[in-house]
Amino acid sequence: MKEKIIEIRWHGRGGQGVVTCAELLAKAAIAEGKYAQSAPSFGPERRGAPVAAFLRISNKPIYLRSQITHPDIVVVLDPTILTLPDVTAGIKKNAIFIANTNKLLEDVKYILGVNVNLGVIDATKIALEIIRRPITNTTMIGSFIRATNIVKIESVKQEIMTRFPTNYETNIKAMIRGYDELEMETDANRTVIKEKKDGKKAMPKLPKWRELTIGLTTKAGSAQAYKTGSWRSLVPVTDATKCIKCGICWVYCPDSARYQTPDGTYETNFDYCKGCGICARECPTHCITMQEEKE
Ligand code: SF4
Ligand code: SF4
Repeated sequence: MKEKIIEIRWHGRGGQGVVTCAELLAKAAIAEGKYAQSAPSFGPERRGAPVAAFLRISNKPIYLRSQITHPDIVVVLDPTILTLPDVTAGIKKNAIFIANTNKLLEDVKYILGVNVNLGVIDATKIALEIIRRPITNTTMIGSFIRATNIVKIESVKQEIMTRFPTNYETNIKAMIRGYDELEMETDANRTVIKEKKDGKKAMPKLPKWRELTIGLTTKAGSAQAYKTGSWRSLVPVTDATKCIKCGICWVYCPDSARYQTPDGTYETNFDYCKGCGICARECPTHCITMQEEKE
């Protein structure tokens, strides 16, 4: 690694282990004698909301304490947020971009619309196969190590064993699959995106601290306008033939996304369902199953 600070931004949804990725890699880098720093970035949202984490690694001390606005590397853990402008905001030209997606590399390149060295991996599929849950963090760490070679896989294994003493084997297995199955552009097969006139994705102008709002009251009905359906990576599927019309899913759904159909059974409003799985857990007849969201 050259004498510079490598800045890495991680994107995902609350509950997918975005912050853990940055922490594990920072600890592994420090164990190798490098300098590293990790920090989370949250809004006030719950599980499922888009979140980011920041990681800096260097061969020299790091004095910066800010968020990362011009990353050298971006890693996206959730396929449903690839189209959000935040993931490419401020990204350096020819940065490394690693995406969890089941789309083709060329298609992702087109969706992003920026010139990056792109790597793609179907980490959700791997996580569901190995961990049985769509928690993609350790799989994406494997892909990150393969694409960047900044830390050694052995160092991260040690950190995973310390962090997950009871289930480190599955997490290490997921990491190795992420390493092995990453599809990465090489110089020979790179697709160069033509700069679109409106395609420059500059960082939004941020307010100065004196301009920040102190406290906020939203208008009545704003929850209805704020559609949380795009946060989902799992989707509840109801077998109406087993529904006993008890309404328990409706009572427990934190987003009021369950509604009664004319025949009395319950279904989901996908504009608001964020895939938390509470309805499936509470349903007494187990007629709701959580399935992988199709992109
Ligand atoms: S998964 Fe179920 S409980 Fe969770 S938001 Fe969707 S409908 Fe509501
Ligand atoms: S909890 Fe299950 S059985 Fe009860 S209304 Fe909802 S889907 Fe039907």
